[in-house]
Amino acid sequence: MAKDERIYVGVDLGGTKILAVAFDSKLKVLATEKAKTPREANASSVVAALAEAVRRVIEAAGPGLALGGVGVSVPGPLDRAKGIVRYTPNMGFKDYKLGQELAGMFGAPAYLENDVQAGVYGELRAGALRGKLNAVGVFVGTGIGGGIVIDGKLYRGATGSAGEVGHMILHEGGAACGCGNYGCLEALASRTAMAKDAIGQAATGKAPALYSIAGSDLRKCRSSVLFDSIESGDKGVKKAVDRAAAWLGVGLANLVHVLNPEAIVVGGGVVTRFGQKFLDRAISSMEDHLMPGLAGTAQVLLSELGDLAVPTGAACVAIEGAEASPAKGATR
Ligand SMILES: [Zn+2]
Repeated sequence: MAKDERIYVGVDLGGTKILAVAFDSKLKVLATEKAKTPREANASSVVAALAEAVRRVIEAAGPGLALGGVGVSVPGPLDRAKGIVRYTPNMGFKDYKLGQELAGMFGAPAYLENDVQAGVYGELRAGALRGKLNAVGVFVGTGIGGGIVIDGKLYRGATGSAGEVGHMILHEGGAACGCGNYGCLEALASRTAMAKDAIGQAATGKAPALYSIAGSDLRKCRSSVLFDSIESGDKGVKKAVDRAAAWLGVGLANLVHVLNPEAIVVGGGVVTRFGQKFLDRAISSMEDHLMPGLAGTAQVLLSELGDLAVPTGAACVAIEGAEASPAKGATR
């Protein structure tokens, strides 16, 4: 079938980097291209860099392949149906018709998706959540994002913002969150939360290795720096990371109580760096907080796709769009 000869491009458009991946219609990776996101916070230069990455990855995938569609994940509120980026914190988009512009450039349909939702969707279609019907994704980084799968589909909610698991309030009056509340999961278990806690430990002499690398600079406390400090014997950093894992478990328990998922996939930079041990701590805290009837009902799995989760999810949206309206997918 002609449709099988088409390629689909999924793009993770992030604040610092652009990752474009070309797939066949069965989600086999054909080529990947990386680029830096221009720093000037200007939509037209970001679109130019994005388009160049898409062009390069199509070329790298092989000559003579027809483009079936492009899916782009964007960190910010969207109007998916109209292909409009409402707003992004760093890239200068404001009510920007990105879908239409890309479709015009490439002569193929273009779709937009929220970045975290794309990551969960990628894991659902091709990663740790493959074959699951009721599941949740939780991604731990500088913040905590998530997505909910119900009956095999992403659940978006009334206005498209379902899955903000990072802003479940677990400890009213606890640590301050970027959203303005106190004691959100994100304020207790993100890398930022771990780093703040660890720097506090360093100030009282319980994290000398961390102090020698990062001083009291939050931005220097990357996942790898925290990891290395623990390896060097910093008990204070270990405590901070353990505390965050325990809070993550509380958050997972809340998700199990509300959604009764068969599986939860956990990903993001922190989890990738700390791996199964970190996850095991979160799981044991989760199980400690579950009602008796729900203990052991939800598998908690590490992300399988890592960096590819988001472009995979974005490409899936493009593939499904082409399948839903094949006429629109034809390029002439
Ligand atoms: Zn919050």
